[in-house]
Amino acid sequence: MTCAELMNALVDYLSDSGELVVEVRETYRLHIDGCPKCGPYVASYSHTIKVSRLLPRCALPPAFEARLRKALEPELGGEKAGG
Ligand SMILES: [Zn+2]
Repeated sequence: MTCAELMNALVDYLSDSGELVVEVRETYRLHIDGCPKCGPYVASYSHTIKVSRLLPRCALPPAFEARLRKALEPELGGEKAGG
């Protein structure tokens, strides 16, 4: 596992989506624990995610949200947002 591979997989690793098998997660964790570059990076990255989840969701004006969703539709490829 290289630092670049880890960075590519970081979103999956931190998302807790259950898509990564345990052995793979363990490989990432070992790299993060042993790598002076990735360790601090992952720590601050996951901290940022945690903190941003604590923030209240901002409500957009409905008309603006509708326009935004329409504009983003092609980007999202018809994917439905969870919440
Ligand atoms: Zn690394």
